[in-house]
Amino acid sequence: MTEIKEKEKRNFKKNKVKKMKQSKQMQKTIAEKRIIKLFNMAEKKAKEDNFELANRYVEIARKLSMRHLVKIPKKYKRKFCRHCYSYLLPSKNCRIRIYRGKVIIYCNNCKKFSRFIIKKATK
Ligand SMILES: [Zn+2]
Repeated sequence: MTEIKEKEKRNFKKNKVKKMKQSKQMQKTIAEKRIIKLFNMAEKKAKEDNFELANRYVEIARKLSMRHLVKIPKKYKRKFCRHCYSYLLPSKNCRIRIYRGKVIIYCNNCKKFSRFIIKKATK
């Protein structure tokens, strides 16, 4: 009895490893989807004045992107501070200026600036 069970266990483990290898690409796409979802959730929480949770979501999204080597979409890159990684909500948490073809975001938490270059008409 016990032998059979152990065999089953081993087989199960093998199957698991195989699946993991096959689905590396899958994991990346799932991670990307989760990152987008996390940022959407963070936005909701920030609008409800719950910045602690919003920051936590940003942290999870960043960790996901690092673990799976997935880039955070450009759209969301401006939504958190580059220095302290806190979620930024314009008019509440940060100031946004445009100066000499750059977007300059001032973070109220760490009092630092982050700059983003504006590109001409993306394709
Ligand atoms: Zn900051």
